[in-house]
Amino acid sequence: MDHLLLIRYGEIGLKGKNRHLFEEQLMRNIRAALGDALPGRVQRAYGRIFVELGDSAHTRAALERLQKVFGIVAVSPALRVPLTVEAVEEGAVELVRRLGPAGARTFRVQARRPNKAFPLTSQEINERIGALLLRTYPQLKVDLHQPELVVSIEVREQGAYLYSEQTPGPGGLPVGVSSHALLLLSGGIDSPVAGWMAMKRGIRLDAIHFHSPPFTSERALDKVKDLTGVLASWGGPIRLHVVRFTEIQKELRRQAPAELMITLMRRFMLRIAVAVAQDVGALALVTGESVGQVASQTLENMSVINAVTSMPILRPLVGFDKQEIVERAQAIGTYSISIRPYEDCCTIFVPAHPATRPQLAEVEAAEAALDVAGLVREALASIETTTLAEAPAGAG
Ligand code: ATP
Ligand code: MG
Repeated sequence: MDHLLLIRYGEIGLKGKNRHLFEEQLMRNIRAALGDALPGRVQRAYGRIFVELGDSAHTRAALERLQKVFGIVAVSPALRVPLTVEAVEEGAVELVRRLGPAGARTFRVQARRPNKAFPLTSQEINERIGALLLRTYPQLKVDLHQPELVVSIEVREQGAYLYSEQTPGPGGLPVGVSSHALLLLSGGIDSPVAGWMAMKRGIRLDAIHFHSPPFTSERALDKVKDLTGVLASWGGPIRLHVVRFTEIQKELRRQAPAELMITLMRRFMLRIAVAVAQDVGALALVTGESVGQVASQTLENMSVINAVTSMPILRPLVGFDKQEIVERAQAIGTYSISIRPYEDCCTIFVPAHPATRPQLAEVEAAEAALDVAGLVREALASIETTTLAEAPAGAG
């Protein structure tokens, strides 16, 4: 009897070459998620992926990790037994034993027999195994319509597979199938969720963060590293590029109209991010912007900010309410880190009355007084890059 994990995947509409790339990448990501601690053989058959864990004691730990692998729709612990009636019987009893048939529960057996060489038909398997389980576990009753437990049996060429419970996976596409983007990661609630949403569509991420020492502290930076680590646990490793933004902010405070401060800062961030994206081979930027939350997120402001680049900017949160973002942040494990009370570079220099409808011409006029290219170059030279591969200790 072999202990396996049966992994369902699949996105409607994936065909031909795409399907192949999807499967290959998913198998690589599964191997990476299991890591050295949980050695297992990852194989593909019958439109499923099977992970053969040498030791059934690893099942729970492996299930937990696979719940964070995009592309997986569901995972079931499964048994594979030889193609004899006795082995299937033994397997069924063992499967139900492990599930712990405590209390009065109802069940049904659901057999499929693609391998017609097996001596019993699907219906005969259902009846025979059903009767056996009733004898073995007297507290169980058959319910064909709404059973609490479905014992599935698939008789294939290489053996019979038995499984029952399903743990849902995160769905989406395997990270890596959709190329590479650069996430603008603040210490806030929104941008980590935006990064997660991008990864869910198969995008591999680098992250960039702007800080302003000494106005922002080392602990504010640790927070961003921890956020990057949590994201990396969903499909890393992720490189974090930290840009020193202090000089640009000081220069803007000295030279620029206060009400344009935020718009100008954002335009600098974007220019720097685009340069880094090009450098690392990322094809798009990802931000946590939503429409209408704050002054800089009016469409008027976004269009003026966006005017510095033609690189695509993905804003996965655009259709979300704040409450939905918070719930997602909690579910993915970033919320408790995001609410740590450290300052952000953008909150330090914000004016009392930022412009909500700046004109591109006035913004460009303000920039004409600055050495834009020189400031960008200096900021790029300040970048320090770290790679994060896993969630910080204690993170959900
Ligand atoms: P968040 O919760 O992600 O901080 P927010 O609702 O506070 O977002 P803004 O402060 O307007 O909104 O920031 C909009 C987006 O700009 C952020 O989601 C993030 O993608 C990017 N951003 C803001 N500050 C920084 C920063 N210091 N470093 C990198 N990116 C940033
Ligand atoms: Mg913010």
